[in-house]
Amino acid sequence: MKLSFDFFRGLIIGALTVGLITAALSLAHMRTQILSIGNGSATGPVWYVTGVERELQEFEFALAYYELDPTTANNVTLRFDILWSMVASISQGDVAAKLEDFNVDYALLEQMPELLKKHDAAIMDIGALTREERMDILLEFRALNDEVHQVGMKALQASSAETLTWRETLLSVSNNNAVVGIILIVIVTILILMFQFDRVAARRQLREKDALLVAAEAASVAKSQFISVINHELRTPLTSIKGAISLMSAGALGEVPKTFERPINIAERNCRQLSSLISDLLDAEKFSSGAMEYKFEPINLPQFLTEQIETHASFADSYGVTLSIQSPVPELIVNGDAHRLGQVMSNLLSNAVKFSKSGDHVTVSLEEQNGRAVVSVTDTGRGIPEAARDKVFERFQQVDSSNERERGGTGLGLSIVKAIVEAHGGHVDFDSVVGEGTTFKFDLSLVK
Ligand code: ADP
Repeated sequence: MKLSFDFFRGLIIGALTVGLITAALSLAHMRTQILSIGNGSATGPVWYVTGVERELQEFEFALAYYELDPTTANNVTLRFDILWSMVASISQGDVAAKLEDFNVDYALLEQMPELLKKHDAAIMDIGALTREERMDILLEFRALNDEVHQVGMKALQASSAETLTWRETLLSVSNNNAVVGIILIVIVTILILMFQFDRVAARRQLREKDALLVAAEAASVAKSQFISVINHELRTPLTSIKGAISLMSAGALGEVPKTFERPINIAERNCRQLSSLISDLLDAEKFSSGAMEYKFEPINLPQFLTEQIETHASFADSYGVTLSIQSPVPELIVNGDAHRLGQVMSNLLSNAVKFSKSGDHVTVSLEEQNGRAVVSVTDTGRGIPEAARDKVFERFQQVDSSNERERGGTGLGLSIVKAIVEAHGGHVDFDSVVGEGTTFKFDLSLVK
């Protein structure tokens, strides 16, 4: 939906661009047309040719009038000169070229200067001519009238035709512009609608986000309340139950009948599991909220790991598993939080024990590699399939959850291990072969 919407928007913007380019070209074309009308290139020749016709008649009239009033000799020579200058201007500039363009035969106009030259001297001294001589000249010029008129008419027709073509062109260009304008208005309207639609959608998303935020805040408050309930209402009574059971199993409350031993052991083990589940949940919450605090201090790893093995020996024993340590040196100091690193070892050791068979052995080894201490916990248990590599470090993830629940796991342990090791600037990983065993390794930088 989003893709086709974007495609449609692209199409509209493309159309808008094409429309604008077309409008610009069309306007440029119109401008050229208007400019060519403005400089008179179409009407100019008509003006000159009709000018020659008019001046020819003016000259003929002046010559005829001279017979009535011989004092008007000057007027005759003046009209003769004006006619000549008009004729001369025909062959100048682009008038002749335009007449050729119009396909108008103007040979006659080109011959006129010859005629004018021929009678120039006589007209300048008109009083010296006889009446017959003047009439001959008049008749000679009058014979041109019709032809000059024809040339003028043809130029006028061609000019009108050209003007008509311009009009039509201008009309079609302005029609095109009107159509392009309407199309542009439609496109712009669609674009505005689309942007409006976007705005509405963005506002709706914002409202939804706000609602989600409110829900998330409410969930966070509920989670905090839940954590607090776990902490106070569950942990406190559990501690006293654990204490009471311990007292019973230690015989502090009197001798325990043989038949009570097994249920008391089961209750003790379940209390331990419940207590570790509560600790894991509280820790996981602290990690995700970034509230976990560390107290770093120098730790002698061989000694620390030996203590961890001693602490977990009885747990391992309850699974029929033995623990041991391999350390090449008696002293290897790292900077760490002993309590949190204890949690790391506790998770790795209890996993190694839980997923081993009775009679198996779990080894903790310590090595120094490139200025770092590398701690490994190796078991010969069932192993982890390669496909579960990323999954096991995620929260609440187990390779086989139906089976694992029975062993008392929550799927939180390795995520806590990862978070603590990374907070120490280290890295945790494992090698495993299904059916043969697993080695978890993590490294810590040594104190120099
Ligand atoms: P859990 O509380 O279930 O042990 P973890 O996060 O500690 O949760 O471990 C996640 C899962 O990784 C376990 O449920 C188990 O499937 C697998 N796993 C962890 N350690 C081992 C191991 N040493 N051998 C085999 N499987 C293991």
